[in-house]
Amino acid sequence: MSDVFTGNFTQQEPISEEGIAAAVAVMRSGRLHRYNLTEDEVGEVSALEQEFARSVGAKYCLAVASGGYAMGCALRAMGVGAGDKVLTNAFTLAPVPGAIASVGAVPVFVGVTEALVIDLEDLAAKADQADVLMLSHMRGHICDMEALMALCDAHGIRVIEDCAHTMGGGWKGIPSGRYGALSCYSTQTYKHMNSGEGGLLVGDDAELMARATILTGSYMLYGRNGAVPEAEVFEAVKYDTPNVSGRMDHLRAAILRPQLRNLDQQVAAWNARHDVILNGLRGTPGLAVVERPEGEQYVGSSIQFLLLDWAEEKIHDALARCAARGVELKWFGGAEPVAFTSRYDSWRYAPSNPMPKSDRVLKGIVDMRIPLTFSVEDCAFIARIIRAEVGAVFQAG
Ligand SMILES: *Cc1c(COP(=O)(O)O)cnc(C)c1O
Repeated sequence: MSDVFTGNFTQQEPISEEGIAAAVAVMRSGRLHRYNLTEDEVGEVSALEQEFARSVGAKYCLAVASGGYAMGCALRAMGVGAGDKVLTNAFTLAPVPGAIASVGAVPVFVGVTEALVIDLEDLAAKADQADVLMLSHMRGHICDMEALMALCDAHGIRVIEDCAHTMGGGWKGIPSGRYGALSCYSTQTYKHMNSGEGGLLVGDDAELMARATILTGSYMLYGRNGAVPEAEVFEAVKYDTPNVSGRMDHLRAAILRPQLRNLDQQVAAWNARHDVILNGLRGTPGLAVVERPEGEQYVGSSIQFLLLDWAEEKIHDALARCAARGVELKWFGGAEPVAFTSRYDSWRYAPSNPMPKSDRVLKGIVDMRIPLTFSVEDCAFIARIIRAEVGAVFQAG
């Protein structure tokens, strides 16, 4: 049937031949561990750290086992521990409160606006409850970073940025991850660079990054890292920082380096697809698109829209009709977490107070991934399908 979309929403692009050749060379060497180096060898992991630090303009960078690991490591490096409270987004994914819980700390959820960014009013109201904010740029929506930093600075709140969805993006010309004291990126398959699993942690604070380096499991070999502070900074921290092993290996780094060189082109490709869908959905009855604010350099690797104040069965109906035409949409508002969708009140280990304004938004969020294996024409077709099916359900009343 020609009116059914047949693309696969979880199919990523293959690893480039250049990446495959680099990975094969690492395997031929047998030296996969980041500290298994010949005398003067930099190694793939350190080279990646230097290149990533340069690409975002950070002083220091650590390549680690996952984005979630990077977040836990950042919290530990800041000294967050058992019983401490950490502010974070109510609209995010499970690894974010999970990283907070992994150090024994307790998430304090901050609401979400209709622009799908953290609610700065709610943050101001809760600012005296914690001195660390784990800011998740969920689905690539970046809040007014100047206003956020002014608020956090005024309250002595240190910011860790979760840039799992904003790698390659930025706010007002500054790369995402350069406002907070520490920032975390993921190179897991469904993010902006793909090494299966993997993460990156960046920052400019020498002591924090020295602690983070020891935490990743550098032993006393940190001198072989690519983008870490001077040796004397380690003197102050090396005996009282535990090893919580979570390094990246050369194989993953080898796959990532060519992807980093290609990231800007990937961002342009995502945004071309994202914008075609956004424009195609604008004006659909009952559906609110999420406009991108000026100053936001987004990466459209996914798209969200709102079915605000829709009855649950209508949302189910619209999603089922889209699914029947091959368009896989995820509803973040479901009472039970499905696949990766989740919301703050489904993390029962982290008790929360109801947030009616945010609940209204969360209940209406519909989400769709945009794999680069889709063409721009595919994206136009997808938008026509959503427009027709959502519009039909809305107008049926
Ligand atoms: C994927 C993801 C993470 C964690 O990354 P992993 O590499 O899978 O551990 C953190 N935050 C958000 C918002 C994510 O989507």
